[in-house]
Amino acid sequence: MAETFSQVVTEAVADIEEHGYDSEERIAFWLGKIRAAAEGAMLTPEQMQAKLRDALVSIYRQMVEKKGIVSMHPGIGRFTIEQVRPQLRAELDRRIMASANLIKLNRKQAIEKTLQRFSGWSTSIPKGGSKNVKTNDVKKDIRKALQRLPFEERRVLVDQGHKFTSSLSETLAQDGGAIAGAWHSNWRQPNYDYREDHKERDRLVYAVRGCWALERGLMKPSKHGYTDDITKPAEEPFCRCKYRWIYNLRDLPRDMLTAKGRDELSKARKVTNAA
Ligand SMILES: [Zn+2]
Repeated sequence: MAETFSQVVTEAVADIEEHGYDSEERIAFWLGKIRAAAEGAMLTPEQMQAKLRDALVSIYRQMVEKKGIVSMHPGIGRFTIEQVRPQLRAELDRRIMASANLIKLNRKQAIEKTLQRFSGWSTSIPKGGSKNVKTNDVKKDIRKALQRLPFEERRVLVDQGHKFTSSLSETLAQDGGAIAGAWHSNWRQPNYDYREDHKERDRLVYAVRGCWALERGLMKPSKHGYTDDITKPAEEPFCRCKYRWIYNLRDLPRDMLTAKGRDELSKARKVTNAA
């Protein structure tokens, strides 16, 4: 059976403790063994990819196939989701790719850090070894980056999940003709580490630049401006904010309607009342 990462680190530290930095070859030998053991301790790229895919596909199913996304798009046309589905599907593939790259990068960094720590420590031990090595501290330090990795990867998965949910919603809003978005922050939720400036955005309504209602002179942005004036929901790490998208003039705050917009709205109301 292959040695575990932890065993290899223990042997490497004992060997350097005994011999010290007496040759490049000794260090290179252990760096090679530590790298191989570290790689062996991780899920294979295929396993990781499968895990990622499962997590993101289940969000896609919930949001698109089961139409969970509708809760943040009240008033959207019945067939719009069907029409936008290919773009939503493309978002899934993009997000799987981006997440896989992030995870690869994290692993590479964890291995590099591990090797750097060993290299830095081992080359500081004089030839002939040392009796003063606090081996437990040294081993702990060398193992740290790799031990943190599963935790980091879970965080990546969770954050990528939020980013994916947000980009699905934004794609639907853009292609479905949303005219504004009302920011929604979870700051009231206990234990949620919210950003102060995101809390301040809560319930503010931002106009979608270039939307049909602006083009037709029916609305104008409020003093808060446009959605592209500020960061997007979930753009910053671990942000769980959302937009509740607005599709109809009647759902806009009064101050975002122009005179022409108010006119059009009251005409539409008369028609509805007459019917
Ligand atoms: Zn936020």
